[in-house]
Amino acid sequence: MALSQKIQTPSCTYEQPLGLFINNEFVKGVDGKTFEVINPHNEKVFVSVHEATEQDVDRAVAAARKALEGEWKTVTPTARGRMLVRLADLMEQHCDTLAAIEALDNGKSLSMAKADVANSANCIRYYGGWADKIHGKVIDTDHETLTYTRHEPVGVCGQIIPWNFPLLMWAWKVGPAVAAGNAVLIKSAEQTPLSALYMGNLVKAAGFPAGVINVLSGFGRVAGAAISSHMGIDKVAFTGSTAVGRQVLQAAAKSNLKKVTLELGGKSPNIVFNDADIDNAISWVNFGIYFNHGQCCCAGSRILVQEGIYDRFLQRFKERAQQNKVGDPFHPDTFQGPQVSQLQFDRIMSYIDQGKKDGATVEVGGERHGTEGYYIQPTIFSNVNDEMSIVKEEIFGPVCSIQKFKTEEEAIKIANGTNYGLAAAIHTKDLNTSIRVSNELKAGTVWVNSYNMISYQAPFGGFKESGMGRELGEYALNNYTEIKTVRIRLGDAMF
Ligand code: NAP
Ligand code: MG
Repeated sequence: MALSQKIQTPSCTYEQPLGLFINNEFVKGVDGKTFEVINPHNEKVFVSVHEATEQDVDRAVAAARKALEGEWKTVTPTARGRMLVRLADLMEQHCDTLAAIEALDNGKSLSMAKADVANSANCIRYYGGWADKIHGKVIDTDHETLTYTRHEPVGVCGQIIPWNFPLLMWAWKVGPAVAAGNAVLIKSAEQTPLSALYMGNLVKAAGFPAGVINVLSGFGRVAGAAISSHMGIDKVAFTGSTAVGRQVLQAAAKSNLKKVTLELGGKSPNIVFNDADIDNAISWVNFGIYFNHGQCCCAGSRILVQEGIYDRFLQRFKERAQQNKVGDPFHPDTFQGPQVSQLQFDRIMSYIDQGKKDGATVEVGGERHGTEGYYIQPTIFSNVNDEMSIVKEEIFGPVCSIQKFKTEEEAIKIANGTNYGLAAAIHTKDLNTSIRVSNELKAGTVWVNSYNMISYQAPFGGFKESGMGRELGEYALNNYTEIKTVRIRLGDAMF
Protein backbone atom coordinates (compact mmCIF):
# COMPACT_ATOMS: atom_id res chain seq x y z
CA MET A 1 0.00 0.00 0.00
CA ALA A 2 1.17 3.54 -0.80
CA LEU A 3 2.56 5.92 1.80
CA SER A 4 0.16 8.72 0.95
CA GLN A 5 -3.13 9.25 -0.82
CA LYS A 6 -5.16 12.17 -2.12
CA ILE A 7 -8.31 12.61 -0.08
CA GLN A 8 -11.27 14.68 -1.07
CA THR A 9 -13.31 16.13 1.78
CA PRO A 10 -16.42 18.28 1.31
CA SER A 11 -14.31 21.34 2.16
CA CYS A 12 -10.87 20.60 0.63
CA THR A 13 -8.64 18.11 -1.15
CA TYR A 14 -5.30 17.22 0.38
CA GLU A 15 -2.52 14.63 0.44
CA GLN A 16 -2.92 12.32 3.47
CA PRO A 17 0.22 10.57 4.78
CA LEU A 18 -0.51 6.91 5.56
CA GLY A 19 2.79 5.55 6.89
CA LEU A 20 4.16 5.47 10.42
CA PHE A 21 6.19 8.62 11.14
CA ILE A 22 9.53 7.43 12.52
CA ASN A 23 12.81 9.36 12.30
CA ASN A 24 11.12 12.15 10.32
CA GLU A 25 10.11 9.71 7.57
CA PHE A 26 6.84 8.01 6.70
CA VAL A 27 7.45 4.26 6.60
CA LYS A 28 5.52 1.01 6.33
CA GLY A 29 5.12 -1.16 9.42
CA VAL A 30 7.56 -4.04 9.85
CA ASP A 31 4.74 -6.58 9.61
CA GLY A 32 3.27 -4.86 6.55
CA LYS A 33 -0.16 -4.60 8.19
CA THR A 34 -2.70 -1.90 7.47
CA PHE A 35 -6.12 -1.03 8.89
CA GLU A 36 -9.19 0.76 7.62
CA VAL A 37 -10.45 4.19 8.59
CA ILE A 38 -14.20 4.76 8.64
CA ASN A 39 -16.17 7.95 8.06
CA PRO A 40 -18.70 7.98 10.93
CA HIS A 41 -21.08 10.15 8.89
CA ASN A 42 -21.76 7.38 6.36
CA GLU A 43 -20.13 4.30 7.97
CA LYS A 44 -17.93 3.81 4.89
CA VAL A 45 -14.21 3.01 4.72
CA PHE A 46 -12.46 5.86 2.94
CA VAL A 47 -8.77 5.10 3.46
CA SER A 48 -6.40 2.61 5.11
CA VAL A 49 -3.25 3.40 7.08
CA HIS A 50 -0.15 1.40 7.97
CA GLU A 51 -0.28 -0.31 11.35
CA ALA A 52 2.42 -0.23 14.02
CA THR A 53 3.11 -3.51 15.82
CA GLU A 54 5.61 -4.30 18.60
CA GLN A 55 8.63 -4.08 16.30
CA ASP A 56 7.59 -0.65 15.10
CA VAL A 57 7.34 0.53 18.70
CA ASP A 58 10.92 -0.76 19.10
CA ARG A 59 11.96 1.19 16.01
CA ALA A 60 10.34 4.40 17.28
CA VAL A 61 11.91 3.96 20.72
CA ALA A 62 15.34 3.49 19.11
CA ALA A 63 14.83 6.62 16.99
CA ALA A 64 13.74 8.65 20.02
CA ARG A 65 16.68 7.39 22.10
CA LYS A 66 19.15 8.21 19.35
CA ALA A 67 17.76 11.76 19.05
CA LEU A 68 17.80 12.21 22.80
CA GLU A 69 21.42 11.19 23.15
CA GLY A 70 22.52 12.92 19.96
CA GLU A 71 21.40 16.05 18.19
CA TRP A 72 18.42 16.86 20.40
CA LYS A 73 20.64 17.07 23.46
CA THR A 74 22.64 19.88 21.88
CA VAL A 75 19.64 21.95 20.81
CA THR A 76 19.31 24.90 23.19
CA PRO A 77 16.07 25.45 25.09
CA THR A 78 15.52 28.64 23.10
CA ALA A 79 15.87 26.77 19.81
CA ARG A 80 13.51 24.07 21.11
CA GLY A 81 10.96 26.74 21.91
CA ARG A 82 11.35 28.29 18.49
CA MET A 83 10.63 24.92 16.83
CA LEU A 84 7.43 24.55 18.84
CA VAL A 85 6.35 28.09 17.93
CA ARG A 86 7.07 27.33 14.27
CA LEU A 87 4.99 24.17 14.57
CA ALA A 88 2.11 26.20 16.03
CA ASP A 89 2.35 28.69 13.14
CA LEU A 90 2.28 25.81 10.64
CA MET A 91 -0.79 24.34 12.32
CA GLU A 92 -2.56 27.66 11.88
CA GLN A 93 -1.48 27.86 8.24
CA HIS A 94 -2.89 24.34 7.72
CA CYS A 95 -6.00 24.98 9.83
CA ASP A 96 -8.53 24.32 7.06
CA THR A 97 -6.95 20.97 6.17
CA LEU A 98 -6.49 19.84 9.78
CA ALA A 99 -10.08 20.79 10.60
CA ALA A 100 -11.41 18.94 7.55
CA ILE A 101 -9.42 15.84 8.61
CA GLU A 102 -10.92 15.98 12.10
CA ALA A 103 -14.45 16.45 10.75
CA LEU A 104 -14.06 13.55 8.32
CA ASP A 105 -12.30 11.13 10.65
CA ASN A 106 -13.92 11.91 14.01
CA GLY A 107 -17.28 13.32 12.87
CA LYS A 108 -17.06 16.59 14.79
CA SER A 109 -18.49 19.64 13.06
CA LEU A 110 -16.08 21.61 10.90
CA SER A 111 -16.57 24.74 12.99
CA MET A 112 -15.77 22.89 16.25
CA ALA A 113 -12.82 21.22 14.51
CA LYS A 114 -11.46 24.65 13.59
CA ALA A 115 -11.68 25.64 17.24
CA ASP A 116 -9.78 22.45 18.12
CA VAL A 117 -7.03 23.39 15.66
CA ALA A 118 -6.77 26.90 17.11
CA ASN A 119 -6.61 25.52 20.67
CA SER A 120 -4.04 22.91 19.66
CA ALA A 121 -1.80 25.49 17.98
CA ASN A 122 -2.10 27.80 20.99
CA CYS A 123 -1.18 24.94 23.31
CA ILE A 124 1.94 24.11 21.28
CA ARG A 125 2.92 27.79 21.14
CA TYR A 126 2.35 28.15 24.90
CA TYR A 127 4.77 25.30 25.60
CA GLY A 128 7.20 26.82 23.10
CA GLY A 129 7.23 29.79 25.45
CA TRP A 130 8.06 27.52 28.39
CA ALA A 131 11.02 25.75 26.76
CA ASP A 132 13.64 28.27 27.97
CA LYS A 133 12.00 28.90 31.34
CA ILE A 134 12.38 25.43 32.83
CA HIS A 135 14.98 25.55 35.55
CA GLY A 136 15.81 24.45 39.07
CA LYS A 137 16.57 26.29 42.27
CA VAL A 138 19.57 27.11 44.38
CA ILE A 139 18.86 25.89 47.90
CA ASP A 140 20.67 27.48 50.81
CA THR A 141 21.48 24.52 53.06
CA ASP A 142 24.63 25.75 54.82
CA HIS A 143 27.54 28.01 54.05
CA GLU A 144 29.91 25.20 53.03
CA THR A 145 27.72 23.67 50.32
CA LEU A 146 26.30 24.82 47.04
CA THR A 147 23.04 22.93 46.52
CA TYR A 148 20.99 23.28 43.37
CA THR A 149 18.42 21.35 41.38
CA ARG A 150 18.30 20.67 37.66
CA HIS A 151 15.04 19.89 35.87
CA GLU A 152 16.18 17.36 33.29
CA PRO A 153 14.09 15.62 30.61
CA VAL A 154 12.69 12.25 31.73
CA GLY A 155 13.82 10.67 28.46
CA VAL A 156 11.80 8.72 25.92
CA CYS A 157 8.07 9.31 26.46
CA GLY A 158 5.35 7.01 25.13
CA GLN A 159 2.03 8.77 24.71
CA ILE A 160 -1.30 7.08 24.05
CA ILE A 161 -4.25 9.24 23.04
CA PRO A 162 -7.97 8.73 22.41
CA TRP A 163 -10.21 9.59 19.46
CA ASN A 164 -12.47 12.29 20.93
CA PHE A 165 -10.02 15.17 20.35
CA PRO A 166 -7.36 13.61 18.11
CA LEU A 167 -5.38 16.76 17.38
CA LEU A 168 -5.91 18.51 20.71
CA MET A 169 -4.74 15.45 22.67
CA TRP A 170 -1.69 15.30 20.38
CA ALA A 171 -0.89 18.91 21.34
CA TRP A 172 -1.53 18.42 25.08
CA LYS A 173 0.89 15.49 25.10
CA VAL A 174 3.63 16.60 22.71
CA GLY A 175 3.81 20.27 23.81
CA PRO A 176 5.05 19.90 27.41
CA ALA A 177 7.13 16.78 26.67
CA VAL A 178 9.10 18.42 23.88
CA ALA A 179 9.37 21.79 25.67
CA ALA A 180 11.10 19.97 28.53
CA GLY A 181 13.58 18.33 26.12
CA ASN A 182 12.15 14.80 25.88
CA ALA A 183 11.74 12.70 22.74
CA VAL A 184 8.32 11.15 22.14
CA LEU A 185 6.44 8.44 20.33
CA ILE A 186 2.73 9.07 20.25
CA LYS A 187 0.11 6.44 19.39
CA SER A 188 -3.11 7.83 17.98
CA ALA A 189 -6.44 6.09 18.49
CA GLU A 190 -7.30 3.39 16.00
CA GLN A 191 -10.53 5.26 15.07
CA THR A 192 -8.81 8.57 14.27
CA PRO A 193 -5.22 8.23 13.02
CA LEU A 194 -5.23 10.88 10.28
CA SER A 195 -4.54 14.27 11.90
CA ALA A 196 -1.65 12.85 13.96
CA LEU A 197 -0.03 11.60 10.73
CA TYR A 198 -0.59 14.92 9.01
CA MET A 199 1.27 16.51 11.94
CA GLY A 200 4.30 14.44 10.87
CA ASN A 201 4.65 16.69 7.80
CA LEU A 202 4.48 19.79 9.97
CA VAL A 203 6.93 18.41 12.54
CA LYS A 204 9.48 17.94 9.79
CA ALA A 205 8.81 21.38 8.32
CA ALA A 206 9.18 22.99 11.75
CA GLY A 207 12.76 21.74 11.86
CA PHE A 208 12.70 19.15 14.64
CA PRO A 209 15.66 16.74 14.41
CA ALA A 210 14.78 13.21 13.29
CA GLY A 211 13.45 10.99 16.06
CA VAL A 212 12.27 13.73 18.45
CA ILE A 213 8.58 13.27 17.58
CA ASN A 214 7.42 9.91 16.22
CA VAL A 215 3.79 9.12 15.36
CA LEU A 216 2.37 5.59 15.32
CA SER A 217 -1.03 4.48 14.09
CA GLY A 218 -2.12 1.23 15.66
CA PHE A 219 -4.21 -0.70 18.12
CA GLY A 220 -4.17 -0.36 21.87
CA ARG A 221 -3.85 -4.05 22.57
CA VAL A 222 -0.77 -4.28 20.31
CA ALA A 223 1.09 -0.96 19.98
CA GLY A 224 -0.43 0.59 23.12
CA ALA A 225 0.43 -2.44 25.24
CA ALA A 226 3.96 -2.52 23.76
CA ILE A 227 4.44 1.11 24.81
CA SER A 228 3.23 0.68 28.38
CA SER A 229 5.39 -2.41 28.97
CA HIS A 230 8.48 -1.25 27.02
CA MET A 231 11.77 -1.39 28.90
CA GLY A 232 13.21 1.45 26.81
CA ILE A 233 10.45 3.97 27.55
CA ASP A 234 10.93 6.19 30.59
CA LYS A 235 7.48 7.66 30.88
CA VAL A 236 4.00 6.87 29.61
CA ALA A 237 1.16 9.37 29.37
CA PHE A 238 -2.30 7.97 28.68
CA THR A 239 -5.72 9.47 28.03
CA GLY A 240 -8.70 7.17 27.69
CA SER A 241 -10.90 4.86 29.70
CA THR A 242 -10.33 4.08 33.38
CA ALA A 243 -10.23 0.34 32.56
CA VAL A 244 -7.34 0.74 30.13
CA GLY A 245 -5.67 3.28 32.45
CA ARG A 246 -5.42 0.53 35.06
CA GLN A 247 -3.80 -1.79 32.51
CA VAL A 248 -1.26 0.86 31.55
CA LEU A 249 -0.37 1.42 35.20
CA GLN A 250 0.00 -2.32 35.77
CA ALA A 251 2.17 -2.77 32.69
CA ALA A 252 4.39 0.12 33.79
CA ALA A 253 4.72 -1.43 37.25
CA LYS A 254 5.50 -4.88 35.86
CA SER A 255 8.13 -3.62 33.41
CA ASN A 256 10.52 -0.80 34.31
CA LEU A 257 8.37 1.33 36.66
CA LYS A 258 8.22 4.02 34.02
CA LYS A 259 6.58 7.23 35.24
CA VAL A 260 2.83 7.25 34.56
CA THR A 261 0.27 10.00 34.09
CA LEU A 262 -3.35 9.09 33.43
CA GLU A 263 -6.22 11.26 32.27
CA LEU A 264 -9.31 9.06 32.51
CA GLY A 265 -13.05 9.19 32.51
CA GLY A 266 -15.64 11.06 34.49
CA LYS A 267 -19.26 11.32 35.50
CA SER A 268 -19.25 15.00 36.21
CA PRO A 269 -22.02 16.80 38.10
CA ASN A 270 -23.47 20.09 36.88
CA ILE A 271 -25.31 21.77 39.77
CA VAL A 272 -27.94 24.46 39.24
CA PHE A 273 -29.11 26.41 42.31
CA ASN A 274 -32.44 28.21 42.69
CA ASP A 275 -30.80 31.62 42.30
CA ALA A 276 -29.00 30.82 39.02
CA ASP A 277 -29.58 32.90 35.90
CA ILE A 278 -31.73 30.29 34.22
CA ASP A 279 -31.03 31.22 30.58
CA ASN A 280 -27.33 31.21 31.24
CA ALA A 281 -27.45 27.95 33.18
CA ILE A 282 -29.44 26.18 30.45
CA SER A 283 -27.03 27.22 27.74
CA TRP A 284 -24.00 25.98 29.73
CA VAL A 285 -25.71 22.78 30.87
CA ASN A 286 -26.62 22.05 27.25
CA PHE A 287 -23.07 22.79 26.09
CA GLY A 288 -21.69 20.84 29.07
CA ILE A 289 -23.24 17.56 27.97
CA TYR A 290 -23.77 17.84 24.21
CA PHE A 291 -20.49 19.47 23.13
CA ASN A 292 -18.46 17.03 21.02
CA HIS A 293 -21.52 14.70 20.99
CA GLY A 294 -21.03 13.95 24.68
CA GLN A 295 -17.65 12.42 23.91
CA CYS A 296 -15.79 14.46 26.52
CA CYS A 297 -14.04 13.03 29.56
CA CYS A 298 -15.38 16.01 31.53
CA ALA A 299 -18.94 15.92 30.08
CA GLY A 300 -21.51 17.28 32.55
CA SER A 301 -23.62 14.14 32.43
CA ARG A 302 -25.32 14.37 35.85
CA ILE A 303 -27.45 17.47 36.06
CA LEU A 304 -28.59 18.38 39.57
CA VAL A 305 -31.24 21.08 39.84
CA GLN A 306 -32.61 22.65 43.03
CA GLU A 307 -36.31 22.01 43.63
CA GLY A 308 -37.44 25.65 43.39
CA ILE A 309 -36.61 25.85 39.68
CA TYR A 310 -36.56 22.17 38.72
CA ASP A 311 -39.80 22.04 36.69
CA ARG A 312 -39.14 25.28 34.85
CA PHE A 313 -35.52 24.30 34.20
CA LEU A 314 -36.43 20.86 32.84
CA GLN A 315 -39.05 22.27 30.49
CA ARG A 316 -36.67 24.89 29.10
CA PHE A 317 -33.72 22.49 28.93
CA LYS A 318 -35.81 20.02 26.90
CA GLU A 319 -36.62 22.76 24.41
CA ARG A 320 -32.97 23.76 24.22
CA ALA A 321 -31.71 20.20 23.67
CA GLN A 322 -34.16 19.68 20.82
CA GLN A 323 -32.82 22.79 19.09
CA ASN A 324 -29.29 21.35 18.83
CA LYS A 325 -28.69 20.72 15.14
CA VAL A 326 -27.66 17.09 14.62
CA GLY A 327 -26.22 16.17 11.23
CA ASP A 328 -23.44 16.25 8.66
CA PRO A 329 -20.22 17.59 10.22
CA PHE A 330 -19.56 19.64 7.08
CA HIS A 331 -22.92 21.45 7.22
CA PRO A 332 -22.35 24.96 8.61
CA ASP A 333 -25.29 24.76 11.07
CA THR A 334 -24.30 21.43 12.61
CA PHE A 335 -23.69 21.38 16.35
CA GLN A 336 -23.70 17.62 16.90
CA GLY A 337 -22.21 15.15 14.42
CA PRO A 338 -22.15 11.35 14.57
CA GLN A 339 -20.56 9.31 17.37
CA VAL A 340 -17.09 8.13 16.42
CA SER A 341 -17.72 4.44 15.68
CA GLN A 342 -20.18 1.58 15.52
CA LEU A 343 -18.79 0.32 18.81
CA GLN A 344 -19.38 3.62 20.60
CA PHE A 345 -22.81 3.95 18.96
CA ASP A 346 -23.77 0.48 20.22
CA ARG A 347 -22.42 1.15 23.73
CA ILE A 348 -24.42 4.37 24.03
CA MET A 349 -27.61 2.83 22.64
CA SER A 350 -27.28 -0.05 25.11
CA TYR A 351 -27.00 2.45 27.98
CA ILE A 352 -30.14 4.18 26.69
CA ASP A 353 -31.99 0.83 26.53
CA GLN A 354 -30.82 -0.03 30.04
CA GLY A 355 -32.04 3.35 31.34
CA LYS A 356 -35.47 2.67 29.84
CA LYS A 357 -35.53 -0.88 31.30
CA ASP A 358 -34.54 0.47 34.72
CA GLY A 359 -37.61 2.72 34.69
CA ALA A 360 -36.06 6.13 34.04
CA THR A 361 -38.19 8.57 32.02
CA VAL A 362 -36.97 9.66 28.57
CA GLU A 363 -37.73 13.39 28.50
CA VAL A 364 -36.09 13.99 25.13
CA GLY A 365 -34.45 11.76 22.50
CA GLY A 366 -33.66 8.16 23.37
CA GLU A 367 -33.36 6.93 19.77
CA ARG A 368 -30.92 6.91 16.91
CA HIS A 369 -31.05 9.96 14.66
CA GLY A 370 -31.70 9.16 10.99
CA THR A 371 -30.91 5.85 9.35
CA GLU A 372 -27.28 6.19 8.26
CA GLY A 373 -24.19 7.22 10.24
CA TYR A 374 -23.59 6.85 13.97
CA TYR A 375 -26.03 9.61 14.94
CA ILE A 376 -27.87 9.62 18.27
CA GLN A 377 -30.55 12.06 19.42
CA PRO A 378 -29.66 14.35 22.33
CA THR A 379 -31.18 12.46 25.25
CA ILE A 380 -32.34 13.50 28.73
CA PHE A 381 -33.41 11.01 31.41
CA SER A 382 -35.37 12.03 34.52
CA ASN A 383 -36.76 9.92 37.40
CA VAL A 384 -33.40 8.31 37.91
CA ASN A 385 -31.78 6.87 41.03
CA ASP A 386 -28.18 6.38 42.10
CA GLU A 387 -28.26 2.64 41.35
CA MET A 388 -28.95 3.02 37.63
CA SER A 389 -26.06 2.44 35.25
CA ILE A 390 -26.97 5.61 33.32
CA VAL A 391 -26.27 7.57 36.53
CA LYS A 392 -23.20 5.64 37.69
CA GLU A 393 -21.24 4.87 34.53
CA GLU A 394 -19.57 6.99 31.91
CA ILE A 395 -21.75 6.82 28.77
CA PHE A 396 -19.56 9.02 26.56
CA GLY A 397 -22.43 10.07 24.36
CA PRO A 398 -25.20 12.69 24.12
CA VAL A 399 -27.05 11.33 27.15
CA CYS A 400 -27.57 12.93 30.56
CA SER A 401 -29.67 12.43 33.65
CA ILE A 402 -31.42 15.16 35.63
CA GLN A 403 -32.07 14.96 39.38
CA LYS A 404 -33.78 17.25 41.89
CA PHE A 405 -32.15 18.30 45.16
CA LYS A 406 -33.32 20.32 48.15
CA THR A 407 -30.29 21.61 50.04
CA GLU A 408 -26.70 22.54 49.30
CA GLU A 409 -25.50 19.62 51.50
CA GLU A 410 -27.60 17.20 49.49
CA ALA A 411 -26.24 18.55 46.19
CA ILE A 412 -22.64 18.13 47.41
CA LYS A 413 -23.37 14.59 48.60
CA ILE A 414 -24.90 13.53 45.27
CA ALA A 415 -22.17 15.32 43.29
CA ASN A 416 -19.39 13.54 45.18
CA GLY A 417 -21.17 10.16 45.16
CA THR A 418 -19.04 8.71 42.36
CA ASN A 419 -15.66 7.05 41.93
CA TYR A 420 -14.78 9.69 39.37
CA GLY A 421 -13.58 13.22 40.08
CA LEU A 422 -12.64 14.97 36.88
CA ALA A 423 -14.84 18.06 36.75
CA ALA A 424 -17.92 19.72 38.19
CA ALA A 425 -19.86 22.94 37.74
CA ILE A 426 -22.04 25.20 39.84
CA HIS A 427 -24.59 27.74 38.64
CA THR A 428 -25.48 30.44 41.16
CA LYS A 429 -25.45 34.23 41.48
CA ASP A 430 -24.18 33.98 45.05
CA LEU A 431 -20.41 34.28 45.29
CA ASN A 432 -20.35 32.68 48.74
CA THR A 433 -22.28 29.63 47.50
CA SER A 434 -19.93 29.21 44.54
CA ILE A 435 -16.81 29.30 46.73
CA ARG A 436 -18.26 27.16 49.54
CA VAL A 437 -19.51 24.46 47.18
CA SER A 438 -16.46 24.46 44.89
CA ASN A 439 -14.28 23.88 47.96
CA GLU A 440 -16.34 20.79 48.85
CA LEU A 441 -16.45 19.18 45.40
CA LYS A 442 -14.00 16.35 44.81
CA ALA A 443 -13.03 17.27 41.28
CA GLY A 444 -9.93 18.42 39.44
CA THR A 445 -11.74 21.35 37.83
CA VAL A 446 -14.79 23.29 39.03
CA TRP A 447 -16.51 25.72 36.68
CA VAL A 448 -18.80 28.42 38.01
CA ASN A 449 -21.57 29.73 35.73
CA SER A 450 -19.95 28.04 32.73
CA TYR A 451 -18.78 24.63 31.50
CA ASN A 452 -15.94 23.10 29.45
CA MET A 453 -13.84 26.24 29.84
CA ILE A 454 -10.47 24.55 29.38
CA SER A 455 -7.34 26.65 28.87
CA TYR A 456 -3.88 25.40 27.97
CA GLN A 457 -2.63 27.71 30.76
CA ALA A 458 -4.62 26.02 33.53
CA PRO A 459 -4.04 22.50 34.87
CA PHE A 460 -6.53 19.76 33.99
CA GLY A 461 -6.84 16.28 35.49
CA GLY A 462 -8.72 14.12 37.91
CA PHE A 463 -9.30 13.33 41.56
CA LYS A 464 -10.06 9.71 42.50
CA GLU A 465 -10.39 7.27 39.56
CA SER A 466 -10.33 10.06 36.99
CA GLY A 467 -6.58 9.96 36.81
CA MET A 468 -3.12 10.71 38.10
CA GLY A 469 -1.19 13.91 37.50
CA ARG A 470 -2.19 17.10 35.74
CA GLU A 471 -1.93 18.11 32.13
CA LEU A 472 -1.66 21.67 30.78
CA GLY A 473 -0.23 24.79 32.34
CA GLU A 474 3.06 24.92 34.17
CA TYR A 475 1.96 21.85 36.16
CA ALA A 476 2.25 19.55 33.12
CA LEU A 477 5.98 20.24 32.93
CA ASN A 478 6.40 18.33 36.21
CA ASN A 479 5.34 15.16 34.40
CA TYR A 480 8.14 15.57 31.91
CA THR A 481 11.10 16.50 34.09
CA GLU A 482 13.24 14.54 36.50
CA ILE A 483 14.64 16.64 39.31
CA LYS A 484 18.29 16.17 40.07
CA THR A 485 19.86 17.55 43.25
CA VAL A 486 23.52 18.55 43.00
CA ARG A 487 25.44 19.33 46.21
CA ILE A 488 28.92 20.79 45.91
CA ARG A 489 31.12 20.84 48.97
CA LEU A 490 32.87 24.23 49.11
CA GLY A 491 35.10 23.92 52.17
CA ASP A 492 37.96 21.44 52.62
CA ALA A 493 36.48 19.61 55.59
CA MET A 494 36.72 15.79 55.42
CA PHE A 495 34.32 13.16 56.67
P1 NAP B 1 -9.61 3.24 25.28
O1 NAP B 1 -9.56 1.85 24.83
O2 NAP B 1 -9.24 3.56 26.68
O3 NAP B 1 -8.69 4.07 24.25
C1 NAP B 1 -7.78 5.08 24.55
C2 NAP B 1 -6.42 4.79 23.94
O4 NAP B 1 -5.82 3.68 24.62
C3 NAP B 1 -6.46 4.38 22.48
O5 NAP B 1 -5.32 4.88 21.81
C4 NAP B 1 -6.41 2.87 22.58
O6 NAP B 1 -6.05 2.21 21.42
C5 NAP B 1 -5.43 2.68 23.70
N1 NAP B 1 -5.48 1.35 24.33
C6 NAP B 1 -6.49 0.45 24.32
N2 NAP B 1 -6.14 -0.67 24.99
C7 NAP B 1 -4.87 -0.48 25.42
C8 NAP B 1 -3.95 -1.26 26.16
N3 NAP B 1 -4.26 -2.47 26.60
N4 NAP B 1 -2.73 -0.74 26.43
C9 NAP B 1 -2.40 0.49 26.01
N5 NAP B 1 -3.23 1.28 25.29
C10 NAP B 1 -4.45 0.81 25.00
O7 NAP B 1 -11.02 3.86 25.01
P2 NAP B 1 -12.10 3.39 23.90
O8 NAP B 1 -12.26 1.91 23.91
O9 NAP B 1 -11.75 4.04 22.64
O10 NAP B 1 -13.41 4.05 24.50
C11 NAP B 1 -14.10 3.37 25.52
C12 NAP B 1 -14.52 4.32 26.61
O11 NAP B 1 -13.38 4.99 27.14
C13 NAP B 1 -15.42 5.46 26.16
O12 NAP B 1 -16.73 5.06 26.05
C14 NAP B 1 -15.20 6.44 27.27
O13 NAP B 1 -15.98 6.11 28.37
C15 NAP B 1 -13.74 6.28 27.61
N6 NAP B 1 -12.88 7.29 26.95
C16 NAP B 1 -12.41 8.31 27.68
C17 NAP B 1 -11.65 9.28 27.07
C18 NAP B 1 -11.10 10.45 27.82
O14 NAP B 1 -10.88 11.49 27.23
N7 NAP B 1 -10.83 10.32 29.10
C19 NAP B 1 -11.37 9.22 25.72
C20 NAP B 1 -11.85 8.12 24.98
C21 NAP B 1 -12.60 7.18 25.62
P3 NAP B 1 -7.24 1.76 20.42
O15 NAP B 1 -7.39 2.90 19.53
O16 NAP B 1 -6.81 0.56 19.69
O17 NAP B 1 -8.43 1.48 21.27
MG1 MG C 1 -12.60 7.20 11.92
